[in-house]
Amino acid sequence: MTVEAHKETLGFQTEIKQLLDLMIHSLYSNKEIFLRELISNGSDAADKLRFNALKDDALYEGDAELKIWINVDKDARTISVRDNGFGMSREEVIDNIGTIAKSGTQAFFKSLTGDNAQDTQLIGQFGVGFYSSFIVADKVTLLTRRAGLETSHGVKWESSGDGDFSIETLEREQHGTEVILHLKSDADEFLSDYRLHSIIKKYSDHITLPIIIPKVTTDEEKDETTIEEEVVNTAKALWTLAKSEITDEEYTEFYKQVAHDFEAPLAHLHNKVEGKNEYTTLLFIPARAPFDLWDRTNHRGVKLYVRRIFIMDDNDKLLPPYLRFIRGIIDSNDLPLNISREILQHNKQIDAIREGTVKKILSALENMAKNEPEKYATFWKEFGKVFKEGVVDDHNNKPRIAKLLRFSTTHDDNPAPVITLEDYVGRMKEGQKKIYYITADSFLAAKNSPHLEIFRNKGIEVLLLTDQIDEWVSTQLTEFDGKSLQSITKGDLDLGDLEDEEEKKEAEKATDALKPLLDRVKTALGEKVKDVRITHRLTTSPACLVADEQAMDASLERMLKSAGQTIPGSNPIMEINPQHPIVEALKEEKDETRFQDWAFILFEQALLSEGGQLDDPAAFVKRLNEMFISMGNLSTSPIITLN
Ligand code: ADP
Ligand code: MG
Repeated sequence: MTVEAHKETLGFQTEIKQLLDLMIHSLYSNKEIFLRELISNGSDAADKLRFNALKDDALYEGDAELKIWINVDKDARTISVRDNGFGMSREEVIDNIGTIAKSGTQAFFKSLTGDNAQDTQLIGQFGVGFYSSFIVADKVTLLTRRAGLETSHGVKWESSGDGDFSIETLEREQHGTEVILHLKSDADEFLSDYRLHSIIKKYSDHITLPIIIPKVTTDEEKDETTIEEEVVNTAKALWTLAKSEITDEEYTEFYKQVAHDFEAPLAHLHNKVEGKNEYTTLLFIPARAPFDLWDRTNHRGVKLYVRRIFIMDDNDKLLPPYLRFIRGIIDSNDLPLNISREILQHNKQIDAIREGTVKKILSALENMAKNEPEKYATFWKEFGKVFKEGVVDDHNNKPRIAKLLRFSTTHDDNPAPVITLEDYVGRMKEGQKKIYYITADSFLAAKNSPHLEIFRNKGIEVLLLTDQIDEWVSTQLTEFDGKSLQSITKGDLDLGDLEDEEEKKEAEKATDALKPLLDRVKTALGEKVKDVRITHRLTTSPACLVADEQAMDASLERMLKSAGQTIPGSNPIMEINPQHPIVEALKEEKDETRFQDWAFILFEQALLSEGGQLDDPAAFVKRLNEMFISMGNLSTSPIITLN
């Protein structure tokens, strides 16, 4: 590698400039969090060095006692945060804190609330912690050398936060990083050891690394100064303690640190598993969804340790994606220390840890659902949509996951999903064999769907599925408690024993009598429909659309289409309600053109009422208007002016 000893000045990307501007000018509450962020970075760097030194312990350069030192220079008005961790090369400095903004930067801007105290707290979650230095400093100097590189590969980075930074290569004895903050004039409070002490206790007590504020005492008589390395934090791996030794408060503080959250978690699970595969888990269910919850990959909330040494924080290997909201640590006693990330992917012990941990999490959720329903409702609100993926992802645990699902149903006007499948089954009508559901794009579209009319009439409960993921879930969750799940918008409605024999006969008779009308409507609609038949479902609406039993559900089809997929033609079946006045009028319609308009209006209405989109909305409006006008009451004024 060539060393670019020259000093260069590089510009920050606009987004970083905005970020720095925000830090410098707008965040004035909770200023102290800069220290938490710098300590957290030092701790990450120590983890990284330990991990890399497993294969090459020369990287320690004879200095394996990793620590973080905080030094205050009252005269120079600086604070320095130094670690003897992994450090960075020149390229890494430019990549990590240089020109280009990280993906979290945008997300951070988006989640700003305007509440200063809260916004400052958010910083750590978005991978922009380093820049919080500029909340208290008007100039920041970073000195670093990557462990293992020659001392001539030291790097100095410096910025006043106003658009650019300088970088130069220099000689540096010590590996690891030191960040020197030149405090702003209003940040004097941080020159006090006592203040720094209390900040460290508050935010960083559970960092497993010793955090040291050197204590300088001068013996004036002897004219001697001694420097004592006083460890400020507890510096113990909390999870290694017995549960009885840990207070709720300590769990919460630990959580805030690992999850970069400022709110307490909903729950924690602390378990020691003994036996052939020994490991400890200390996991948390947060109270609020993180900004990147929707991203199924790349989650870093659970850290894997082997005998207290940090190995990786890649959730994908440790937990299935549907549990990606979980935060915390897993510490194994048995995995080999020199394990590589590649080996981890196909490791039986990891698989066993993963399986066991999933079971523990499901048990914790079951307990919460049973004993703390309000908390569970919060969990469901924040993470339900992600957790549901488990129905698709985790075949083995599907029955347990199914019980943990929560639904909105026609039983309850409350759109908040609180009803379980067990509740539903407990309320099933005599003779009811299936669990009925409807999928739609919104709660209102589901709740007011014409398909529900017959169910309302007969007092049969229907699950209202309105999350996008429900489309997938319903294809995978085909039965519960021996009862199959049935979409009410699909196939020939078979209410089985729930149907009245009388009603059935009536309907058959009606079908015969209306055969000519049905054929005529079908001809009028042509390609639009696969078939037209008499409905069993409707009581007040004139028509509805039904998917073929084998066909894709209409809202799934819409979802795929909106995602840009082309769906091979699967035209719906239109069902019409012979009792409805429009249908009655249709029977009498002699004029072919008008008949066709009526047929289209019926079809298009039905499509609209289930949240579908018209191919040609303007034509629909025109037809409708012509109908109104021809009905006479409106003379000739148009209803809507289309442009
Ligand atoms: P995050 O820690 O969430 O990645 P930060 O803004 O705090 O975000 O830090 C950005 C990056 O800068 C880190 O990911 C790391 O690569 C690098 N970095 C910051 N501080 C240190 C340090 N003390 N030692 C080594 N690398 C560091
Ligand atoms: Mg950080």
